[in-house]
Amino acid sequence: MAKARVGLYSVQGDALSRTHKSCPKCGPGVFLAEHGNRRSCGRCGYSESKGGPAPKVKPAKSVGESKPATPRSPPAASSPAA
Ligand SMILES: [Zn+2]
Repeated sequence: MAKARVGLYSVQGDALSRTHKSCPKCGPGVFLAEHGNRRSCGRCGYSESKGGPAPKVKPAKSVGESKPATPRSPPAASSPAA
């Protein structure tokens, strides 16, 4: 009773392709969430368009305010809770 697992991969023709793309920032193992026409990483916040050539980076909303660009989430913030 060898049943093939269905759902993990999508077979297109005779090519086996992953249904989810891995995050270029986090590396393989971290997959991007599939949205309507874009993918996004829930870990680092990376997002890319499915049909677009390059992901559109949101510009700073406030013009007069100059804030230093801070990373959204550190990869491993292990601070000792004292
Ligand atoms: Zn990521």
